[in-house]
Amino acid sequence: MANTTVQKRIFLSSPHMSGNEIKYINEAFITNWIAPLGPNVDTFEKEIAAYTGVNEAAAVSSGTAAIHLALSLLGVEKGDTVFCSTLTFIASANPILYLGAEPVFIDSEPETWNMSPQALEKAFMDAALNGKLPKAVIVVNLYGQSAKMDELTLLCDQYEVPMIEDAAESLGSSYKGKPSGSFGCFGIFSFNGNKIITTSGGGMLVSNDAEAIHKARFLATQARDPAPHYQHSKIGYNYRMSNILAGIGRAQLEVLEERVEARRAVFERYQQELSTLPGIQFMPELNETYSNRWLTAMTIDEIEADVKVSELIEELAAENIEARPVWKPLHMQPLFKGAKYFTHGDKESVSEQLFANGICLPSGSNMEEIDQSRVINCIKNFINVKEVERKIV
Ligand SMILES: *Cc1c(COP(=O)(O)O)cnc(C)c1O
Repeated sequence: MANTTVQKRIFLSSPHMSGNEIKYINEAFITNWIAPLGPNVDTFEKEIAAYTGVNEAAAVSSGTAAIHLALSLLGVEKGDTVFCSTLTFIASANPILYLGAEPVFIDSEPETWNMSPQALEKAFMDAALNGKLPKAVIVVNLYGQSAKMDELTLLCDQYEVPMIEDAAESLGSSYKGKPSGSFGCFGIFSFNGNKIITTSGGGMLVSNDAEAIHKARFLATQARDPAPHYQHSKIGYNYRMSNILAGIGRAQLEVLEERVEARRAVFERYQQELSTLPGIQFMPELNETYSNRWLTAMTIDEIEADVKVSELIEELAAENIEARPVWKPLHMQPLFKGAKYFTHGDKESVSEQLFANGICLPSGSNMEEIDQSRVINCIKNFINVKEVERKIV
């Protein structure tokens, strides 16, 4: 029977303020640093650089802008190719198109759901054979889980192609003790409203190459030449973060560790409660990696569970609970029709299987235990009901 009272909406991942944000915003107001840039921006950059163990960071208006700048700095231009993980949000690849370059998509492997070294090697071999290596490889750390960085770095080094680490979802995660985002030539973070910490909107470009980050700041402020009049000899962008938003970021960064712990606790509870159901498997965590578990993701074997992901999402929606399928692979997107794609196995496309069977559950660090119980009970009931129906048939 349908619920007559509308229950509180449970979001996939909603902003979680600490309360301290207002202190830094106030500072900005009192000193009238309202314009883009200012002391909060400088400090936030230094704090992110220190946290991720890199030399420099540039605060920008979004994670997408950070990827765009990274590709520009690597000299990507019209006619070039760029390799990119296929199982990701569109923002990973849109900047490739901004620059008139062509994406080539790389499949996932089952142990991290991230870029398959096997598929990457095939793509490199094909590119080398055609005499046209990519200008960059964009590696995504999905839902907080780090990709197989050792294997991927080795391949990129072997072909001398720079890696950009799209760590938009993995701030606070680590791989073999090293912070996520610090592996590529460039790393990028996002502070969009749904990410593990937020500035309402914003991003960060990080690198050990301090000179490149200085250049990024120049490009992000309309590429203004050092002259008293306004002089420009390069294409620039208006991509810098505002001093007010950087203030929010500073306060959010102070509680990042707590946010990671909270999301991991959410994941563990789901796993404890649901992993015994037929056909359910949780996104793995690779040995020697520590995921921030930004979103809890799992797969449902349609035959074993006798439940389709789409049916479960509808069922949850009817209870005012937001759940989503995993990202639709980019090589399947109409926008990228005709783009090259390299699979993990000879005929096995791991990303397509994950898309068919994967679901992301509400995972906010501010989710209360009784809200999580609502999600868990809804899933248990739905799968059990189906189970009973099947037995009767
Ligand atoms: C959120 C996200 C981005 C983009 O970040 P914005 O700040 O929203 O521009 C890029 N890549 C991935 C994988 C993301 O999840």
